[in-house]
Parts: sequence; C-alpha cells; structure tokens
Amino acid sequence: MTQAEFLDRLARIRTALWQGVRTPHKPLLLLLALGRVAQGRKRLVAFASIESEFRRLLVEFGPPRNARHAVYPFGRLRNDGLWEIPGDEALATTSRGDLYAKELRERSIVGGFPREVYQLLAANPSLVVAAAEQLLARYFPSSHHDDIRVAAGLRWDWSVTQRYPERPDSAAFRIQVLEEYERRCSICGFDVSLDDRTLGLDAVRLKWSSHGGPNDVSNALAACLLHQRALNRGALGIQPDRSGYRVLVSGKVAGSSAATARLLDLHGRPVSRPRTPALAPSASFVDWHRKWVFQTPPRLEATA
Ligand SMILES: [Zn+2]
Repeated sequence: MTQAEFLDRLARIRTALWQGVRTPHKPLLLLLALGRVAQGRKRLVAFASIESEFRRLLVEFGPPRNARHAVYPFGRLRNDGLWEIPGDEALATTSRGDLYAKELRERSIVGGFPREVYQLLAANPSLVVAAAEQLLARYFPSSHHDDIRVAAGLRWDWSVTQRYPERPDSAAFRIQVLEEYERRCSICGFDVSLDDRTLGLDAVRLKWSSHGGPNDVSNALAACLLHQRALNRGALGIQPDRSGYRVLVSGKVAGSSAATARLLDLHGRPVSRPRTPALAPSASFVDWHRKWVFQTPPRLEATA
C-alpha cells in the first residue's frame, strides 16, 4: 500500500448519516489510533482499555444526543479496510453485524490498524499528520482541531503541520460577518482592536461547514475567541425570543473564577443583531446548532 492509497482509503470511509449529520465515531477512533502511532504505542489495543477514552472524545466532540456506542466503529472500521481484530471470526455478532461490547470487554479483545497500515504510518510520521489533518478538516470545525489533536494525543511540531494547512475560511465571508456585527463579539461585545485591526474576533458558523453549513452571514455570528470556542463546543447556544435571540449557557459549564461567573451571567442576555436585519441568523441554522452542538440542558430557563 502506498501513502496515497492509504489517504484515499481514509477519504472513503463510510460514515453513517443520522438526520443529515455525518457521525463522528469512525473519524474519532481513527484519530485516537493515529495518536497511538504518533506516540510509538503498540498496534493493537484492547477495546476495554480504549473504550472510556474513546467515549469521552465522542461526548466532547460528537454532536450531543448521538449514540455514543464505542463498539460500533471498533467493529465497523474493518469494512473500510482500516481496522483489524485478530480472531474476530469467533466473536458473536448482532443481526446487523455489530460486535457486543460486553464480549469485547470480557474477552480482552484487541483491535487496531492492519499491520500493513500500521507499518506504513510508523515509518512515515508526516503521513500520520496528513491523515489526521484530513480527518479533522473533513469532519470537524477548525476551532475544534486543536482540542481534538490534544485529546487524541496528536501533538506535533507546528512546522510539520504547516505543510497541511487547513483550508482557510473565505476571507470575504469573515469580513462580511465582522462588519455586520460592527467588529464586536455578538455575545459579549468584546471589541478590542490593535492598530485599527480586530484582535481575537472571528466569524463562527452555527451549522458547521463539515455538515454543509454555508458561508452565509445568516449562518454566522461574530464572536471573540472564547465565545467562538464556547459556541463550537456547545457551552453556549442561542435561542429565539421576541426581539431576536438570547444567549443560552449550558448547565454543564462549571468553574469558580470570576471569569466563569461572567460566562454564566451571559445566560438570557440578548445576542447582538447584525446591521442588516435580513442577515440575522436564520432559524434553521440556529435550530441545528441547538440540536446538535449545544450541550443540553441549559443552565436554567431563561425568561423571555
Ligand atoms: Zn465574546
């Protein structure tokens, strides 16, 4: 197998579409396995020892309310030619061909990249980077990438990463969003500029581009980096009210600092509106974000 063949196979993994959303299970398991290669760990890992780590990634980076079954991708990646479970012919399967988590745990069943793939990756560190970046770009918004790299154990030298840059957001889109929101965070009003250029402000999409969200102002908010991150991780959401939208803070947000208290206080506050009323966030994108990204339940019922 050549490097190009491997990347091609990776690009063709079949991911289930569930209510229009590509499920992140296989990509996250692959990222975890790539992280193991990058750390020089063994090719095969017991399901039982990877299960909780994998589940944590699913909870953290998968859209909420999605099934968090760690066992499905562990078995199904075999169909993509990217996974091997030695001795799997002796394992029981469900009517849909899935394995049983209980059996995998109890019998200490191991799985991992097929030997040929593992050897190719182990011999080519830049291929590990390319593969991980390909998965990140395809399945996750760019503001998640750093967190996922760290969580999957994929820390590498920035100079290597530079060779696989993410496709940047369209500059025109970003500028249009920032101008519509008068170069302020729509959540907190943050408007620092340095030498007349914004600092730490960006356009954040409500419906992720990896899931078909367009580069439209009506699919975006201007947000400071903290609130961009909070929106993308579902710590914050927005909800319609009579005059526009208001901020929702997830009930899962915790912390004891004054900065955390400021974040919690955003709950129920109005979201700023764009200069052009017709470019306000459209209901379908707001609904998508609420449904798939926001970490329910909200902190407390905001009053209209
Ligand atoms: Zn902000």
